[in-house]
Amino acid sequence: MVKTPKLRSPTGMHDILPADQSFFQKVYTTASSIANFYGFEKIDTPLVEDAELFVKSIGMSTDIIEKQMYVFRSKGGDLLALRPEFTAGIARAYIEHGMFNLPQPLKFYSFGPLFRLERPQAGRFRQFHQIDFEVFGEQSPVIDAQIIQIFYNLLRELKFKNLMVEINSIGDRQCRPYYKKLLVNYFRSRENSLCADCRRRLRYNPLRILDCKEEKCQPVKAQAPQIVDHLCLECKSHFKEVLEFLDEVELPYRLNPYLVRGLDYYTKTVFEIFDGSEEGQKGDALVGGGRFDALVRLLGGRNTPACGAAAGVERIIQVLKERSKKESAPPVQVKDVFLAQLGGLAKRKSLKLFEEFRRAKISSAESLSKDSLKTQLRSADKAGVRYALILGQREALEGTIIIRDMKTGKQETVKIEKVIKEIQKRLKR
Ligand code: AMP
Repeated sequence: MVKTPKLRSPTGMHDILPADQSFFQKVYTTASSIANFYGFEKIDTPLVEDAELFVKSIGMSTDIIEKQMYVFRSKGGDLLALRPEFTAGIARAYIEHGMFNLPQPLKFYSFGPLFRLERPQAGRFRQFHQIDFEVFGEQSPVIDAQIIQIFYNLLRELKFKNLMVEINSIGDRQCRPYYKKLLVNYFRSRENSLCADCRRRLRYNPLRILDCKEEKCQPVKAQAPQIVDHLCLECKSHFKEVLEFLDEVELPYRLNPYLVRGLDYYTKTVFEIFDGSEEGQKGDALVGGGRFDALVRLLGGRNTPACGAAAGVERIIQVLKERSKKESAPPVQVKDVFLAQLGGLAKRKSLKLFEEFRRAKISSAESLSKDSLKTQLRSADKAGVRYALILGQREALEGTIIIRDMKTGKQETVKIEKVIKEIQKRLKR
């Protein structure tokens, strides 16, 4: 006999089981209410886009495009990709729907799954979820500060206490090319002290050397020229203002000259937020983002300054879960009514009656799949309901039903068509 191989979810992709749904719900409802307050509107873009969109925007020599994108050819011959991030898709939608004609700035938020072919490791998945906030059509540094504030507040609302914001500016088209040259000259003179990856980055993406985590590269990095010393006047004053706004709202931050982030489209401000609590996974950011003033133009739209960020939902949930293990279990929602039945006719009538309770908005539980009355009453007791309704064979025939007060054990038989009113009356008392 041929043995069927065990089917499992694909590597790095996970089921979200019922027990975890409440964590996702909590994160999403908190994000939605923050979005509402700050005037962000929800946008959903397809999970699949033309691969070219991501190659163009994220950049050819980034990890995402080089190694991590799920690319496939459709039957019609189109080269498509599963979205590895939100920003490019939202920028495409902004251009495609002519949203530059609307009063600016436009503020969007989104959440959902993203896909990256990562090496499986703790906290890194191939299908994961992000919450994303983006602002299009605003160049003022106040927006950079507000985006940081929004994510900081989102995490604070979720009771994160030891948050660390790291921030840097990576300049723009005017000042970055010169800085890149300086950096390449510096690293070239120390090429032998760099790890193999950084030697390759030296050719294709020298800025990324700055955020290399390899032990070997740390001393070389420490001596490297820093971009903040080489920003043009505009980038320098923009950065200064962002920091002043953060000071104004007393949001603590740390300047990190090595923060460059993995994507090509960033200009000026880049930032990340880390969790410093003991439940957090050290070294991995919860949130990452920045300004991307050149992106919309690059994708064929008008010159549109923009800024945004994304939070990793699984990383947030990991901390929430660790924390909830230490706290006492949340109270389970207790239903008001439990519907128990015995026999075929009673079961049929129960199905209908249960619907009537739903329409009357009385929180109810049933156990239509159980036949033993004893088992059902035990479940009702365990669930802590106020009233059990018992529809036995005799009651079903007579058109009555027994209301049992689970606290006192007192029972009363009433006409089945009166039971909803009767329960409503008792619940009000
Ligand atoms: P990025 O889009 O790479 O800037 O990532 C923003 C945030 O998304 C990170 O700070 C993480 O919290 C989360 N994230 C990124 N990649 C993954 C992944 N492969 N698995 C889980 N979370 C991720």
